[in-house]
Amino acid sequence: MKNLLLNIAEWRERLEHDPLAVFLDYDGTLSAIAPTPSEAKLPFATQEILKALVKIKNVKVGIISGRSLSDLRKTVQVSGLTFVGSHGMEIQSEGIASKRVSNQYMQELRELRCRLKGEVRDLSGILLELKPFSLAIHYRKASSGDEKRVKRIVLDICNDAVHQGSISIMSGKKVIEIMPPTAMDKGQAVEKLLKLWGRKKVLPVFIGDDRTDEAAFEVLQDRGLTIRVGESDAHSHAAYYLDSVDDVRTFLRMILCFRISREGVSHDSDAE
Ligand SMILES: [Mg+2]
Repeated sequence: MKNLLLNIAEWRERLEHDPLAVFLDYDGTLSAIAPTPSEAKLPFATQEILKALVKIKNVKVGIISGRSLSDLRKTVQVSGLTFVGSHGMEIQSEGIASKRVSNQYMQELRELRCRLKGEVRDLSGILLELKPFSLAIHYRKASSGDEKRVKRIVLDICNDAVHQGSISIMSGKKVIEIMPPTAMDKGQAVEKLLKLWGRKKVLPVFIGDDRTDEAAFEVLQDRGLTIRVGESDAHSHAAYYLDSVDDVRTFLRMILCFRISREGVSHDSDAE
């Protein structure tokens, strides 16, 4: 893995000239990880860059997150972006329908939440979040003892349903998520959007920091610029890394500068 900022020259030409599809994760990528999801705010400077980027000709920007679509839109508050919530299951774009789940699955999710609530009652720092397609169990504020306990409880309670194939379990940074058995992942969401946007020569760029982003890195590894936020990690499918959320913002600002210097500033009036 290479540091992207130190090797930006390798991509400058394409970032300046190619049609771009920029895919961004939210938590840990655009916003620093916070103790609870509601505390993870989008920095003002990043929001301003996103607002400018969506106005640039031949640049599409999508935010792909595990958050629900409505939460994501409220949190980011930039119009003109394409939002993908629930790890790819909720896509806000004309021409793509969100994935559907059965009533039976949602009923099972509510029952699991009820059982989990009872089981984690004595643990502290656990947050259960029922989303449109999943149940997230956040434990960032839990002690390491309670973290181990909650993981064990979730696995025990879900064991039968996982074996019967009615749910699946996914884990990310300080969160376990109970998902539909045939959950869509971020890789599939990226493929759908690229197909919808229909540009053969488009350069896809994907930036993310967590395990769920690996599906997208894998899909794009031979055709795009894949960037992991955090330290270099030999197990990742991403080819480059950026050290921090601040470096992500620096990189996005670079894209903006490359495009503006090439196209001038009157992009609003340019026809697509
Ligand atoms: Mg993330």
